[in-house]
Amino acid sequence: APLTAADIGGLAWDKMDGLLPAAIQHRASGRMLMLGYMDVDALGATLESGFVTFFSRSKQRLWMKGETGGNRLRLGSVFADCDDDALLVIAEPEGPTCHLGTRSCFGEQILTGPGWLADLSSIVADRAASGGQSSYSRQLLDSGVERIAQKVGEEGVELALAAVTRDSSGCAEEGADLLYHLAVLLQARDMSWEDLITVLRRRHG
Ligand code: AMP
Ligand code: ZN
Ligand code: ZN
Ligand code: ZN
Repeated sequence: APLTAADIGGLAWDKMDGLLPAAIQHRASGRMLMLGYMDVDALGATLESGFVTFFSRSKQRLWMKGETGGNRLRLGSVFADCDDDALLVIAEPEGPTCHLGTRSCFGEQILTGPGWLADLSSIVADRAASGGQSSYSRQLLDSGVERIAQKVGEEGVELALAAVTRDSSGCAEEGADLLYHLAVLLQARDMSWEDLITVLRRRHG
């Protein structure tokens, strides 16, 4: 279960000389964003403020991530590991997490599995908000949910055809088209991948 303030005292602070490593993970994509350290006060401040706060070993003080640069980490929830000496923090970044300007301190490209679909949805949302008229996503969104639904139907049929007539790279092209148009549909309906995944997970207990 996610940690609450009442759980702080029960963690293995003594064993770890007062500092637990805290792995920060992006809520939507699962991307590993950064690694920091928390003392009792940093974890308390994180839970209290709703913004991820570390103990900075270089500054030797509490450090709310984004306190000067503005790219804060909005707290989702915090979990302790099996023996309470490490933390997993689920968060929503307000901007690039690394001070070098990348989303993750471990680089842009490291994202395993279908978590990248969350990035795709961010791109589509950006286009919806600020994409010029040359943006296909923007044009689709402007044309309304019925047009988008029609495209999803077409791409579904194309994938079905490809599944029985084309090689795997052809299927990959059509599957990608379907997922892209589904991402646009989700944006148009103000939904997220999480809404779909919640249904799948529920079906599997
Ligand atoms: P910030 O807390 O994001 O406003 O950044 C303040 C300072 O903390 C920066 O100038 C960097 O020196 C350092 N910093 C920020 N983000 C990171 C990070 N992800 N990893 C290591 N150092 C960072
Ligand atoms: Zn452990
Ligand atoms: Zn970094
Ligand atoms: Zn297609």
